[in-house]
Amino acid sequence: MSSPPSAQPRVIVVGGGLAGLSAALDCAEQGVALTLLEGRPRLGGATWSFERQGRSFDNGQHVHLRCCEAYRGLLDKLGTAHLAPFAGPLAIPVLRPGSGAAPPRTAWIRRDGLPAPLHLARSLLSYSHLSWADRLRLLPAALGLRFADESDPKLDEQTFAEWLRRRGQSEASIARLWDLITLPTTNLRADEVSLTLAAKVFHTGLLTVTEAADIAWAQVPLAELHVEPARRLLESLGGEVHSRSRVTELVLDEPASGPRQVRGVRLEDGQLLEAEAVVLAVQHEEAAKLLPESAGVNTAALGGLGSAPIVNVHFVFDRPVMAHKVAAAIDSEAQFIFDRTPAAHLSPEEARTHQVIAVSLSGAEAQIGERPQVLIERQLAALRQLFPAARAAEPVDAVVTREHQATFRGRPGTARLRPPARTALSNLALAGAWTDTGWPATMEGAVRSGHAASEVVLSALGRWSGPVPARQEVTA
Ligand SMILES: Cc1cc2nc3c(=O)[nH]c(=O)nc-3n(C[C@H](O)[C@H](O)[C@H](O)COP(=O)(O)OP(=O)(O)OC[C@H]3O[C@@H](n4cnc5c(N)ncnc54)[C@H](O)[C@@H]3O)c2cc1C
Repeated sequence: MSSPPSAQPRVIVVGGGLAGLSAALDCAEQGVALTLLEGRPRLGGATWSFERQGRSFDNGQHVHLRCCEAYRGLLDKLGTAHLAPFAGPLAIPVLRPGSGAAPPRTAWIRRDGLPAPLHLARSLLSYSHLSWADRLRLLPAALGLRFADESDPKLDEQTFAEWLRRRGQSEASIARLWDLITLPTTNLRADEVSLTLAAKVFHTGLLTVTEAADIAWAQVPLAELHVEPARRLLESLGGEVHSRSRVTELVLDEPASGPRQVRGVRLEDGQLLEAEAVVLAVQHEEAAKLLPESAGVNTAALGGLGSAPIVNVHFVFDRPVMAHKVAAAIDSEAQFIFDRTPAAHLSPEEARTHQVIAVSLSGAEAQIGERPQVLIERQLAALRQLFPAARAAEPVDAVVTREHQATFRGRPGTARLRPPARTALSNLALAGAWTDTGWPATMEGAVRSGHAASEVVLSALGRWSGPVPARQEVTA
């Protein structure tokens, strides 16, 4: 791999997930010579797609909300936003299995057109999985969250469930309503997640702007939605994209005087690639290994971010089993269930008759170590309880995808462990959903972090005139 001589300064982005892709696109758009290095054979990081028996699957169902403006902005830039349309105003049926062969009971989480937070009031008051008393108690808690100040460090000293209990929320309300939103958005239950992250989700996603929680997801594999389009756009802007290019070291210069800077990166084969600036957009565990001491990042603190798993169980049924495009389940082995048929690239014959279902299990500690066959059988049983049409249906294929380190673990105390984009080395920036974006580990957080990092390195190169994220000390 050799870079042609260029009059432009070179930026190297290490890591080809959404954070790295976003940072790389920003840099390439500003006309710097850009090299993206990804260690794996494919780009996309935590968002990837695969083929099996001629059908397409994603590693896990990925959803975003209308408030995810940075991710949406990326799709707009790539010209693919129409491939992840919003499914209308927020409306999610929440199914609870009936006993025996009885049909499930359904309540809805949906919004109407009233100004937020009133847009949810009707739905919460008619949420029949909770008693009347519990439903009435939801409203003051929702209002409390609406006005919670996410930047108050005290919020990060407690779990969301502790806060909810103090506001009179019952265990049933936590399990059947609050966790329903907390789990898929933060990848932890209310009992474990920091109030800071939960407040961010409810405040930004649900309680401030009427349309903010309308949901969208890819109608094509994620590789076609953002991974390959981003690679193509980068290359069309003159950027170089190299997969199977694992970085083993950030190499520093040895100035006779003045502050040290990053000189480039070393690849696994020993090759040194020089650059005027580097964005490190790898997972936090990997960043902790690569960051030199002079970057001023507390790498021990990064270890404290931990990780939380996600498991998806994908089924190809020989007939339609679910009439909804998405449904949630409570008191069930299933959590969120998606109709993935449009994205699976079925044959024309199968597309007429079959349905592809993905069951997404967040905070999947209990499932991550299970044998695939056990997970498949359990989820099949759960689907048959929830959807009477599934009782006669047979899966013609089923596959489990497991992500052990899907996200960081957003427990109390996490906020101060997340470093900003800017490091003590003026030409080295950090990106990744785990950095200090204020968002949980999401696609939105990843894209925002990429923008923050590109601002830092472009500023260092004199190519950015906007505000630079302030550097904060990270303490263990
Ligand atoms: C199953 C699953 C479901 C999810 N569902 C949702 C969802 O519904 N909505 C949502 O918003 N978010 C969801 N997320 C979270 C979201 O996917 C991630 O937060 C986001 O994609 C992380 O992007 P990133 O660029 O920060 O990190 P990553 O995607 O992890 O990218 C880091 C990249 O760096 C590369 N790398 C590491 N070390 C090196 C090295 N030494 N040299 C070169 N390259 C290296 C890695 O191979 C990787 O490609 C989900 C995640 C998973 C796993």
